[in-house]
Amino acid sequence: MSAQLIDGKVVAKAVKEDVRTRVEALKARGIRPGLATVLVGDDPASHVYVRNKQRTCEDLGMHTVGHELAATTSQEDLLTLIQRLNRDPAIHGILVQLPLPKPLRSEPILSAMSPDKDVDGLHPFNMGKLMMGEPRFVPCTPAGVMAMLDYYKLTIEGKTAVVVGRSNLVGKPAALLLMHRHATVTVCHSKTSDLPAVCRRADILVAAMGKARFVRAEMVKDGAVVIDVGINREADGKLVGDVDFEAVAAKASWITPVPGGVGPMTIAMLMRNTMLAASTT
Ligand code: NDP
Repeated sequence: MSAQLIDGKVVAKAVKEDVRTRVEALKARGIRPGLATVLVGDDPASHVYVRNKQRTCEDLGMHTVGHELAATTSQEDLLTLIQRLNRDPAIHGILVQLPLPKPLRSEPILSAMSPDKDVDGLHPFNMGKLMMGEPRFVPCTPAGVMAMLDYYKLTIEGKTAVVVGRSNLVGKPAALLLMHRHATVTVCHSKTSDLPAVCRRADILVAAMGKARFVRAEMVKDGAVVIDVGINREADGKLVGDVDFEAVAAKASWITPVPGGVGPMTIAMLMRNTMLAASTT
């Protein structure tokens, strides 16, 4: 491998230590940041994600309350819970674990949340602020991508960035954040013509498509910075990203591994957003 590793565990640790210090300062002022997690249904992966978020909260000295609801919960009951959490002064951040089981719709739930407690950055108000270049709460995964680039002092301004994926959760906010930092950004999706040629133009390539090892070495420019957001489980249970790591690492200048890359950053940025939500109360 010639690329240097962008180590998400190292960066996440640095972010969390900063949060820990700032939580201590808030507690000295009588404010203990609180995160409410809302988990609907029994998806095992969602349970693991939520448990990790709660444990990290506790480890950093924050208050956390878990709400676990049956998959048969109605849209109205979920809305009632969100409204109650909106009013709860001990709760500064609300995290609704997505995806919600069918037929629940996430959009009305996210919109019902107080924008001041929207630590996942998915409320239309916070999305709008991000689009305007005045980000407040930014979705945790793309925020984590930017934190990694900054930690390793990788230049963004003036670079050509290509983001593969256009979801509200990852692709679109990642593209906006890169654009606000003066990269020239192209966003690709499943209908993009000649994706390999577009990717080859990237100085910074962000793969967020959810297709195992899809980005091959011939799609990557020599010396590119490659950020792999994808998390895919192969038939043998192994976790792999959207990038063919071994082959691409031989060409890139910097690369994130999976696991141990963007994944740990998502939780760290959620902790940061919760601490920030408490700081503004
Ligand atoms: P979505 O399924 O919501 O979006 C995937 C995007 O990739 C879509 O815009 C889709 O295009 C595009 N896409 C799919 N196939 C192709 C293709 N063959 N060529 C080009 N574009 C394609 O996924 P998410 O954004 O939620 O997540 C993306 C990946 O990131 C997943 O693997 C997910 O598990 C992972 N993830 C990781 C996190 C972490 O903490 N590391 C957090 C969140 C997600 P179109 O719009 O046309 O359908």
